[in-house]
Amino acid sequence: EEKGGLNFVEQIVSDDLAAGKNGGRLNTRFPPEPNGYLHIGHAKAICMDFGVAEKFGGTCNLRFDDTNPTKEDVEYVDSIREDIHWLGFDWGDREYYASDYFPQLYDLAIRMIKEGKAYVDHQTSEEIARQKGTPTQPGVNSPYRDRPIEENLDLFQRMNAGEFEEGTYVLRAKIDMASPNMHFRDPIMYRIIKYPHHRTGTKWKVYPMYDFAHGQSDYFEGVTHSICTLEFVPHRPLYEYFVKELADESYCPRQIEFNRLNLTYTVMSKRKLLQLVQEGLVAGWDDPRMPTISGMRRRGFTPQSIKNFINMIGYTKFEALNSISLLEHAVREDLNKVATRVMAVINPVKLVITNYPEGQTEILEMENNPEDPEAGTHQMPFSREIYIERDDFMENPPKKFFRLAPDGEVRLKGGYIIKCTGVKKDDEGNIEEIYCTYDPDTRSGLPGSMRKVKGTLHWVSAAQAKDATVRMYDRLFSVENPAEEKDKDFREMLNPDSLRVVEGVKIEPFIAENAKVGDHYQFQRIGYFTPDKDSTPEKLVFNRTMQLKDTWEK
Ligand code: ATP
Ligand code: MG
Ligand code: MG
Repeated sequence: EEKGGLNFVEQIVSDDLAAGKNGGRLNTRFPPEPNGYLHIGHAKAICMDFGVAEKFGGTCNLRFDDTNPTKEDVEYVDSIREDIHWLGFDWGDREYYASDYFPQLYDLAIRMIKEGKAYVDHQTSEEIARQKGTPTQPGVNSPYRDRPIEENLDLFQRMNAGEFEEGTYVLRAKIDMASPNMHFRDPIMYRIIKYPHHRTGTKWKVYPMYDFAHGQSDYFEGVTHSICTLEFVPHRPLYEYFVKELADESYCPRQIEFNRLNLTYTVMSKRKLLQLVQEGLVAGWDDPRMPTISGMRRRGFTPQSIKNFINMIGYTKFEALNSISLLEHAVREDLNKVATRVMAVINPVKLVITNYPEGQTEILEMENNPEDPEAGTHQMPFSREIYIERDDFMENPPKKFFRLAPDGEVRLKGGYIIKCTGVKKDDEGNIEEIYCTYDPDTRSGLPGSMRKVKGTLHWVSAAQAKDATVRMYDRLFSVENPAEEKDKDFREMLNPDSLRVVEGVKIEPFIAENAKVGDHYQFQRIGYFTPDKDSTPEKLVFNRTMQLKDTWEK
């Protein structure tokens, strides 16, 4: 696939530039419709559109493809801007709106009517669909196909003046009802919509269809390479047909298609994502389980991990389903480099070190990140009473249990070696407290610390620990490819364990004092965590970004 380190799109761009096409200019665009939040599929397109421009010294426009007012909103415009910036791309002042071209598009439509290339149809959408024919059978001409030009002009203007109801009239290109390409069978150019537009208000009553608007918008903006996904391959001849109405040899945009990103255990269609949000099945577009950029940000993914993942899967001309494990791997790999190591105990049990002086606290110096010598250290208190994970102690352990058991020794991470001397139980036999002694010569850094013990446990000092709520997130769906299960309701395919809330998690004071949204922590031996936007100094809330290991792997 790759030639000289370039993917096939970059190769085309490189060849076009070398051939001096379009005066040697390179201008791409990313064209989201502001009808939802961006998802990781869009990130793939963003990395391509902005990436190729960066690589070859071109420019990339952000164009809001806002031609359907009923589904669009400024909330989406704002979120799209924020998400692209977060990914690390910038369009400078090159922000455009397809709605800015409504006047030019309208003028072009008028011109095409005058040249006999477009006509006003007065049939229902069902009738029009029925006349379309099939790929092996030619379609049937509309009875209005030969309407006189003057009449077409009059009707189109009255369509836009608001004289007619939605669905009564459309403007169609007069091309070929027998074309082997179905998109050439007199495609609709304009329909009537009487819903106010988020930018142009009620000025327009007719709105252009994608195929008519997109290529022309590319042309008006000076876009040279209009990169989109494979489902637009059959639209390309129509793109070229409409663009020819404007372009000449000196400048003509071209469409190039690559494969969509599809991910296992999630859905990518904005319609379904909107449904999840509207039905309250998730907490919003930025729910950390959503495949949206904002959801992944809130979950604690880094922009770099998303870019690394997109690099790994690459750009091809074949549709594929990508494994979410690969994305999760990329996230772990990047967080391993950047996350601050801290200690938190998810399911705490108290442990008393009986030979440690009562009321004494010592401060241990903890490494922030062994992967990054520049990351420095932070301080962690140690005292007579600490918390460890309930799971890290067993009264009657099996053979290879390397954690704490009666008479056994373990190391406290960054601290001392301790030995279990007994436990206290409640009436039902549940362990309430564990008793240990510590060996003062084994503190990390002292010569005695060289003594070998099998297990190392994380812990927090009881007196200084803070309580936190932790939201344990997992995959949103329990079915590998929900989009493919056509006869199942996608609600039934949701993973019932995609969110588990754990209260009373004990965290070391350093986290409580410093954590802010956007920070990445590794709770040692547990996973990667990030403070949620719901977190307050009174009620700390963390999201689990990812477990340390892939527990879905067999
Ligand atoms: P949906 O089908 O969910 O409505 P869309 O493709 O219509 O999504 P747009 O806002 O029009 O959403 O997409 C903007 C750009 O992002 C388009 O160029 C589109 O091709 C690209 N894009 C959307 N989804 C994906 C995906 N899964 N993989 C790669 N590119 C995508
Ligand atoms: Mg769409
Ligand atoms: Mg679209």
